[in-house]
Amino acid sequence: MSKAQLPVKVDPRRCADQGLSYEGVIQVQQLQRLASYLVDAEGEIEAQLHYSVDEERIRHVNGEAKTEVRMLCQRCLEPVVITLNAELNLAFAGSEESAQNLPGRYDPYIVDEDGKQNVHEAIEEELILGLPLIAYHDDCVITTKFEDPRAGSDEGEKSNPFAVLAQLKANKD
Ligand SMILES: [Zn+2]
Repeated sequence: MSKAQLPVKVDPRRCADQGLSYEGVIQVQQLQRLASYLVDAEGEIEAQLHYSVDEERIRHVNGEAKTEVRMLCQRCLEPVVITLNAELNLAFAGSEESAQNLPGRYDPYIVDEDGKQNVHEAIEEELILGLPLIAYHDDCVITTKFEDPRAGSDEGEKSNPFAVLAQLKANKD
């Protein structure tokens, strides 16, 4: 059974006043900016959002989004699976000015001119912030490691860039 698609846009004020929650998915390929960091645009993002009004009468949304994406490992240049878990904690404002008055426990979200929130963009933003700057496999094995499995103790020295520097220096003298 296919899961519900998360709406692209909602009216966050109405959602908060009514205490609405959403649970659904977004296809990775719908988020072009996120996809531009990835090896492919396959898969989907599972997200849930809870809108409410807090005791200071601030309309806000909190929620989470999770997905698995593939980036290019910068060591072996094969895809590496990255698990993303993003959290959202946004309070809504009508302008930059009123956004500055929001308490620091929220990230400000300035609504569009039509008063709407672009839910997809808000989630995309958080997911992009969660991407590693450079992706690596945890256990990325470069073939030279197979040369001699018993030479484990040398490993640290070989991969230590300072050891190489020291060697260069020594050769100079
Ligand atoms: Zn790798």
